[in-house]
Amino acid sequence: MTDAAEPPRTNFIRQIIEADLASGKHTQIATRFPPEPNGYLHIGHAKSIVLNFGLAQAFGGTCNLRFDDTNPHKENVEFVESIQDDVHWLGFDWNDRLYFASDYFEQLYGFAVELIGKGLAYVCDLTAEEVRTHRGTLTEPGRESPYRNRSVDENLDLFARMRAGEFEDGVRTLRARIDMASPNINLRDPVLYRVKHGVVHHQTGLAWCLYPTYDYTHPISDALEGITHSLCTLEFEDHRPLYDWCIDNVSVPCKPRQIEFSRLNLEYTLMSKRRLTELVSESHVQGWDDPRMPTIAGLRRRGYTPGAVRSFCERIGITKAENLVEMAMLESAIRDDLDASALRRMAVLRPLKVVLTNVAHGHTEQLEARNHPKDETLGTRLLPFGREIYIDRNDFEEHPPKGFKRLVPGGEVRLRNAYVMRCDEVIRDATGAVLELRASIDRETLGKNPEGRKVKGVIHWVDAQQGVAAEVRLYDRLFSVPAPGSGGADYRDQINPDSFQVLDGCVLEPALREVRPGERFQFEREGYFIVDPDSTPARPVLNLTVGLRDTWGKSQR
Ligand code: ATP
Ligand code: MG
Repeated sequence: MTDAAEPPRTNFIRQIIEADLASGKHTQIATRFPPEPNGYLHIGHAKSIVLNFGLAQAFGGTCNLRFDDTNPHKENVEFVESIQDDVHWLGFDWNDRLYFASDYFEQLYGFAVELIGKGLAYVCDLTAEEVRTHRGTLTEPGRESPYRNRSVDENLDLFARMRAGEFEDGVRTLRARIDMASPNINLRDPVLYRVKHGVVHHQTGLAWCLYPTYDYTHPISDALEGITHSLCTLEFEDHRPLYDWCIDNVSVPCKPRQIEFSRLNLEYTLMSKRRLTELVSESHVQGWDDPRMPTIAGLRRRGYTPGAVRSFCERIGITKAENLVEMAMLESAIRDDLDASALRRMAVLRPLKVVLTNVAHGHTEQLEARNHPKDETLGTRLLPFGREIYIDRNDFEEHPPKGFKRLVPGGEVRLRNAYVMRCDEVIRDATGAVLELRASIDRETLGKNPEGRKVKGVIHWVDAQQGVAAEVRLYDRLFSVPAPGSGGADYRDQINPDSFQVLDGCVLEPALREVRPGERFQFEREGYFIVDPDSTPARPVLNLTVGLRDTWGKSQR
């Protein structure tokens, strides 16, 4: 896959790989994307996907999709399927390289037996709470478990009986026998296996009542798959000594090299699956694919293209520095993509009727308009134009602020792709609110400037008779602060109350009559929109993807 606009930039991980290939340490690289299927993927995961799949492509290697599915309580098939969908949507393919850590449960069990045999693991009868109090702190060493010196035979027997289901949940665990005084708490005899009865695992069903921990499973799974470069985020740096310990002490075929990079954090949003799960389960949003969510499913429904998300991921780069990326970076990636490809259309979101008194009743003419200002190959369409049209309420001001260039009583404005129009009269309802306008057009101004005067403003419009009624959903950032939840705040109190607005009386130009979900357009002077799956043939629903650049408004208004 290539993004013409964004050739991949180099970074420290690419340089390590180049060196490993140059030195002959590896002849081919193998990477993987290893999600836990306990939620939908977010844009942070996209960074990891683009990195892992992108490196494999760039260096002619392979990239596996592997589900690290060690926690059946929180995982399910919906998540497994959505993750595969999202990776495909981003434009990547694992071919036949789809794996589940649960495929290795039998092997992992065998390696645990190997560790016990070497005196490197033991069955411990401390409760979870006791294990915690024995662990010590950053400044104090831990205390050894009284069960640490059980014989190999006793450990083998107890471990087999754990598997056979003889013990209740929480009564016994298998722990690594490493070092209770290690300055790295991860090395203080971490738990490798827990008993969990009666949980149906989405892959293995009820076959197991003994589950390996993530920290034990993840490095060994990488090694079993022959991963050369195991790329992960910085929070796993402290786990690397434990991962290396596991791999060094069991009979796996190779030793992957783990390299950490910084997570993506994005302004005005949250990026942890736990928080995103709360947003969904507490109904702060309408689902995982709510267009305000930073999930891939949300971005997709919002109208982002796979190319824009990939290009964003290339632009932010890969480093070890903690950062908070500006929303503007993401928005400019989608604007760049859609500016080049989206067909231009006119849509009036807040309609105000205008009767053109010098256009005859029943008269309709067809005006030709280009689909794209810069790309003639995208063709033209016809715009019907008759006696009654709609313009946007915001384009008319009775008491215009200084510099207002659009329609005012007695003033002129150009109707985009059509004539210059003058507002002759304002019609009001009983309360004095503006009901409609009476106006007239200058017939000599189609495609040319009016004689003897300058008309600066250009506004969009739709023919009232043939316009298509539609619902338009406007979205804004989900949170009103750049780093929700920081400084002890509850992110729930920081949700932007104006992040979602429905405009249900919109009118679209007739070329938008039979749009299908997923089609994207630029509504001139408004922004980029995508047709939502909630649309019906009678009533399209469109989502705002992103507004236009500010400079566009300035130069065109
Ligand atoms: P979260 O912290 O959001 O719950 P996670 O790290 O638990 O996410 P996993 O399913 O374990 O989610 O992640 C799969 C891969 O994606 C991991 O290699 C992880 O390092 C990477 N990843 C997760 N979040 C980000 C992020 N914000 N930026 C970059 N990579 C990420
Ligand atoms: Mg994780």
